[in-house]
Amino acid sequence: MIAARAFAGKGVAVFGLARSGLAAVRALKAGGARVTAWDDREPARNAAVEAGAAVLPVAEWRWAEIAALILSPGVPLTHPAPHPAVLAARAAGVEVIGDVELFAREIRPEPDADGAAPVIAITGTNGKSTTTALIGHILSASGYNAEVGGNIGKPVLELSPPGARTIYVIEMSSYQIDLSPGFVPDVAVLSNITPDHIDRHGSLSGYAAVKARLLAQTAKDGLAVVGVDDPQSSAICTQLSARGAAQPVPVSAGKVLGRGVFVLDGVLYDAQNQRATRVMDLKDAAHLPGAHNWQNAALAYAACRPFVRDARAIASAIADFPGLPHRLEDVGRIGNVAFVNDSKATNADAAERALVCYPDIFWIAGGKPKEGGIESLRPYFPRIRKAYLIGEAASRFADTLAGHVIYEISGTLDKAVASALADASQSAAAAPVVLLSPACASFDQFRDFEARGEAFREAVAALAVRHLREAS
Ligand code: ADP
Repeated sequence: MIAARAFAGKGVAVFGLARSGLAAVRALKAGGARVTAWDDREPARNAAVEAGAAVLPVAEWRWAEIAALILSPGVPLTHPAPHPAVLAARAAGVEVIGDVELFAREIRPEPDADGAAPVIAITGTNGKSTTTALIGHILSASGYNAEVGGNIGKPVLELSPPGARTIYVIEMSSYQIDLSPGFVPDVAVLSNITPDHIDRHGSLSGYAAVKARLLAQTAKDGLAVVGVDDPQSSAICTQLSARGAAQPVPVSAGKVLGRGVFVLDGVLYDAQNQRATRVMDLKDAAHLPGAHNWQNAALAYAACRPFVRDARAIASAIADFPGLPHRLEDVGRIGNVAFVNDSKATNADAAERALVCYPDIFWIAGGKPKEGGIESLRPYFPRIRKAYLIGEAASRFADTLAGHVIYEISGTLDKAVASALADASQSAAAAPVVLLSPACASFDQFRDFEARGEAFREAVAALAVRHLREAS
């Protein structure tokens, strides 16, 4: 744990006591602050009491004794409307920050302090977790102690304090950026920007502005690694160049760049300070399938380059990256039918990345629908042999598919997997794939996308056992 000493002897309020909020309570207590906390859920409040906080409803907080409000990134700061705790803090003139800001003040009390452990921060609409985990993997393979956390895995304040070989690798959601005005990464990575979570930022331009802020906050002698394959991110890269702030490194998975890092036909090239040099064929990275993962790999390569001199060492770490669960995860085979768990694909854009990877798809989709539905996936309908629709979105998705793709309304994931296996094993397709890539949030039927992915894996395992019994 990292003790947050910036508020030693002072009062601090923590609102929202999920994992990062509780970690903040512990870190603040360890740093000598007096902590008042609240969460609407009772078990969370009990955990905060155990961690040493005084638990009181917001209406009873004594703002005169509170120096800062630590807000959970899950609680609205601006859109659709600021939470009452935020309004009360503002009225009292109390700053509202997040756990990443506490982390930043601890590990880098002076903006350009020499000798501090480097920090790599990753944001973007899609690919954050994969890129973050891949950067951690490359750095670990190169002898660094990569401390990976933030929006993925451990909350930042649960990471270990800096040591001689520590590099922090922090995944940041837009909400966390909003709450971290003094966070100065040495390397900032922006993967891409597409419409998602607009409800919480008001508009696409508002959402892009938040992402741009993280890059603008990058240390002056640092690096801003920017995926330039969408208009918003590309504009941000141009603005950075014009500003003369941290050096931007454009990254493209498809376009040849005069300067930067790019991927062409799956081959990664480095053209940062030299003529384009071939680094590796990304098709050799078995657990990074698809062009979207080539973008992630190219971003990770550029982010690690300042720390790992030997490009070949980065290439070999990329090639043996084990992949992340729930992202195009190969979960086994029954007969000639492959099963792929892409439960993390919670929007149509993410599902598109999966649909482009396979020619003969038995597609399980649905859940809690997002705006726009699956209209944008029409060009990929010819790859779908049949769709198995689940959750709240089922009838809406059925309307979009009608007349183009054969579908059934399976309702539940278990029924969908069983039907998909039955159809796929009887089909004439050479390489049938049962793909869970729902293009929806999971909350109507599951706790989160992880629980949905686990349920898929279990359903496949149960069918595999039955298949073996029947065969013997
Ligand atoms: P995040 O943490 O930003 O949600 P992940 O790495 O967990 O991103 O990937 C989530 C999903 O988004 C994946 O299952 C994949 O379908 C899609 N995805 C991953 N990387 C990219 C990318 N670079 N561009 C577009 N989509 C991507």
